[in-house]
Amino acid sequence: MASTTGFAFAPVEAPSLPVRGSALRVPVHRIYCIGRNYEAHAVEMGHDPSKEPPFFFQKNPDNLLCGRDFPYPPETSDVHHEIEMVAVLSRGGKNIPVADALGHVFGYGVGLDMTRRDLQGEAKKLGRPWEVGKAFEHSAPCTGIVPASQVGHPDHGAIWLKVNGETRQLGDLNQMIWKTAEQVAILSRYFELQPGDVIFTGTPSGVGPVKRGDDLHGFVEGVGELRLKVA
Ligand code: MN
Repeated sequence: MASTTGFAFAPVEAPSLPVRGSALRVPVHRIYCIGRNYEAHAVEMGHDPSKEPPFFFQKNPDNLLCGRDFPYPPETSDVHHEIEMVAVLSRGGKNIPVADALGHVFGYGVGLDMTRRDLQGEAKKLGRPWEVGKAFEHSAPCTGIVPASQVGHPDHGAIWLKVNGETRQLGDLNQMIWKTAEQVAILSRYFELQPGDVIFTGTPSGVGPVKRGDDLHGFVEGVGELRLKVA
């Protein structure tokens, strides 16, 4: 329980994620997400996959969901799964060089960038912001974080998502257009990064809708597995 001392009313509890195999948790500051970071996914979304400057959007830190089922959100009939490797920073900074960037990463998790695709599509068409499509309650399921001191910095290996046992998304971390280090470096030019910043590093192709009762099983080689149901 957060203390009410010094506050006009009780603050909402600060978001955090468990560290796998430990009683510790990582405090979460912000969530950054990169768009269209695997060529085949850029193509399936109707875009040119050539290496253009990356773009980022944000989810809210309290959109994280860990160890619970994903409740189907309101005001949508087209919620899509996007399986992603997630990086968590333990050190922040501005203008971080690519060569130093991985030294700022505490560890990695397996996440889902759940998306109200119908609302996102409408926002794109009308030139509006993406929050209603991307930054809703429980839109960021994520496993506990495995420290880089144990697994290194994964830059190749399988990333997949099965829905009800059937493979829907399948790619390799080496297909990322902008690598984890580059994402940290580029973000740090635009924002002052902080310890506890979380980066969703992009999704391979095969995104598609989920429905209530679906069993989601995600995997990132060298990082772990994410299992949850759509409730
Ligand atoms: Mn995504």
